[in-house]
Amino acid sequence: MSIAKRYRQLRKEIPEHVTIVLAAKMRTPEEIKEAIETGATDIGENYVQETERIYNALDEETRSKVKWHMIGNLQKNKINKAIPLFDVIETVDSVEKALSINNRLEKFSKIMPVYVEINIGSEISKSGIPPDYETVEDLAKQICKMKNLKLEGIMTMGPRFGDPEKSRLYFRKTKEIFDILITKNFKNVCLKYLSMGMSNSYKVAIEEGSNMVRLGTIIFGERCQK
Ligand SMILES: *Cc1c(COP(=O)(O)O)cnc(C)c1O
Repeated sequence: MSIAKRYRQLRKEIPEHVTIVLAAKMRTPEEIKEAIETGATDIGENYVQETERIYNALDEETRSKVKWHMIGNLQKNKINKAIPLFDVIETVDSVEKALSINNRLEKFSKIMPVYVEINIGSEISKSGIPPDYETVEDLAKQICKMKNLKLEGIMTMGPRFGDPEKSRLYFRKTKEIFDILITKNFKNVCLKYLSMGMSNSYKVAIEEGSNMVRLGTIIFGERCQK
């Protein structure tokens, strides 16, 4: 089945209020272009250099049709390059990182929507802050003070493989955190997006309240290792 067909099928299957971000790491510009021409609205990328290559390979009209999400770990020395490329950074997991992004944004006079990344399951190998409300609120309050950031969401990763049912309780917990934070009226916080669920887990994530899923293999097929 083609990318276009799979995308259309999933767009029909997934409720309208759920944004589909196409996780496009290691995909070619042609594959990404096909997805955009089929009506994809949001593209997620993990690496700044790769995004730059894709960006340059696509024409202005094509690339401006979609929102570009940074969903990978953003290294400090890549922030300057990332700012002009991305419309949202989903992976803010410390005050230091938020500050570095904010400082760079000031120079670009740009305001960037960001999401706080929670590490569900507290897996050591993954980035993200621990899944407890106080920690998330602390970071949110710090972000509020940064003029060039706008906190719009919470993102969580979870295991990519295995039984998605195992993630259900973590997704539920993340939704609980989201629901509390959304009731607080912190300045510059305009929570809208709960970004959770991938190819193996999106159904469970949506059942648990996700309104943004990040899908790679289910739309593009298996990634080849380069
Ligand atoms: C690769 C990736 C995804 C998508 O994973 P699939 O299993 O291919 O759907 C989602 N989120 C992040 C952060 C990723 O790196």
